[in-house]
Amino acid sequence: MISRSALARVSRNAAARSTRSLSTRASTILSAVDIPTNEEVPGVYDGTWGGTGDILESVCPTTGEVLARVQSASPQELQSALEKTREAYEIIRAVPAPKRGQIVRQIREALAAKRDELGALVSLEMGKIRSEGVGEVQEFIDIADSAVGLSRMMNGRLVASERPGHSILEVPNPLGVVAVLSAFNFPVAVYGWNLALSLAAGNATVWKPSPSTPLCSVAVTKIVAGVLEKNGLPGAVASLIIGGRSVGEAIVESEGVDMVSFTGSEHVGRQVGKVVQSRFGKVLLELGGNNAVIIMADADLHLAVPSTFFGAAGTAGQRCTTTRRLYVQRSIAPEVISRLQRLYASLKPGDPLDSATLLGPMHTRAAVGIYSSAVDKLRSEGAEILCGGAVYGQDALMGHLAGGNFVKPTIAIPKSVDVKADIWQKETFAPILSVGVFDDLEEAIALNNGVPQGLSSSLWTRDVRNVGKWIGPAGSDCGIVNVNVGTSGAEVGAAFGGNKTTGWGRECGGDAWKQYVRWSAATINFSDEAPLAQGVSFSSSS
Ligand code: NAD
Repeated sequence: MISRSALARVSRNAAARSTRSLSTRASTILSAVDIPTNEEVPGVYDGTWGGTGDILESVCPTTGEVLARVQSASPQELQSALEKTREAYEIIRAVPAPKRGQIVRQIREALAAKRDELGALVSLEMGKIRSEGVGEVQEFIDIADSAVGLSRMMNGRLVASERPGHSILEVPNPLGVVAVLSAFNFPVAVYGWNLALSLAAGNATVWKPSPSTPLCSVAVTKIVAGVLEKNGLPGAVASLIIGGRSVGEAIVESEGVDMVSFTGSEHVGRQVGKVVQSRFGKVLLELGGNNAVIIMADADLHLAVPSTFFGAAGTAGQRCTTTRRLYVQRSIAPEVISRLQRLYASLKPGDPLDSATLLGPMHTRAAVGIYSSAVDKLRSEGAEILCGGAVYGQDALMGHLAGGNFVKPTIAIPKSVDVKADIWQKETFAPILSVGVFDDLEEAIALNNGVPQGLSSSLWTRDVRNVGKWIGPAGSDCGIVNVNVGTSGAEVGAAFGGNKTTGWGRECGGDAWKQYVRWSAATINFSDEAPLAQGVSFSSSS
């Protein structure tokens, strides 16, 4: 007999089929990554696909078209997926690390075979331009390469013991279940950074993506699941649980989750950090940025200005590393600003899938509202708006773009450079660049460091003395401290993350893998005596 929930699903699917006709633009991309185009998309994977919770709509930010209706996890499915992920952990932890590396290598190969298709899906669903969408998948491929190598080098240490006939081993063992909660703006790469290292380290992973980019996570999970299946491993080694805030909260609270790797806003990260800490779980936080570029008078402006343009207006201002503040040394300020204005004037909104487009949409309607409020606030506090400052009207958005979330990248000069003013202190996740003028590097560093966030920063200069100050103890307090390189975009080799309210997390390169293991110090006695450390004696005869 057919169950009531199955019946409901059949009738929902029939309704969806009868009312929707997907554009060719969308259906071509979805079909290429194996996403169904004529029925609801299951959004829970733990070895089998399911989803009987609320229906989430994936909406194309460029056109407003509903791309798919996705079945999220019910509370029971969530619990069951967490249990299956724990069982899968007990299997994957017994697989030797270099063999786990071979699984990561196969995932890398499978992703590479679909790189352009997945990149197009990122552009379709998130809204970033095509080369950035493909670049995001490339980043997953790159970190997978790195994790394959690491799988033969995730070594512990042999420590010299002060006691004769003793050795101390520092042993990295797998940690358990790692939950990856990710933001909308990197719907593929952030998961990739975590999965590649976590899997090589011997953990099972459960992914809760942003509810507004479910299709990217379904497409990636299908690819990963295919590899796991081919290798006879349980699919729950890399589970997927799509859902909104309540699903996120339940995962964060779960005692069965050993580590929560959270990427998102400061506001949510603050709650996540507290909850995980209160149950003494491990937490890795990658939160918001309020990133500054400093241009000194000796900088190469033909490099500094286009790079700042990309940092501030690229990805429509929706990277955690987007340049939100620009500080220019007084003597060159008019020149820098007029060059920037010329570049901004060349921007035109377009379909991110069109390779000529540099300016895609904001991800959601709500984000357009956040942009408009921030511009209103700048105006009301006396800032001069040099360009932008409005959403695009229908006249500029012809054809299928008319339903899109397009805003004009904005340059503003706030009334004062007082960094403690509200205008400078907050991350507004939109293409708004605030510009201020400074006289010497010390002042510029104080402005750079004067905000709560500490993600990315960039100094443009040719004077090596400035570089020394900038990267030294009295320099930038950010996790990313660049010189003659913009704030936005990073390579997988170095540890990525920020300080202060950005959360202090480090992911991807560097020693980030060390967070995904359970370290044990094992003292082993090979001798016929059992001396205590520090010469302590616990015997009545001494
Ligand atoms: P968000 O904080 O709204 O959501 C992030 C994730 O948390 C989503 O999966 C969401 O569903 C989930 N979530 C929401 N409420 C929750 C709760 N109470 N408990 C548990 N999970 C919950 O962020 P967003 O709008 O998707 O992303 C934009 C933000 O992410 C920006 O602030 C940006 O700077 C930041 N970000 C940071 C980095 C970094 O590496 N530092 C990278 C990308 C994005």
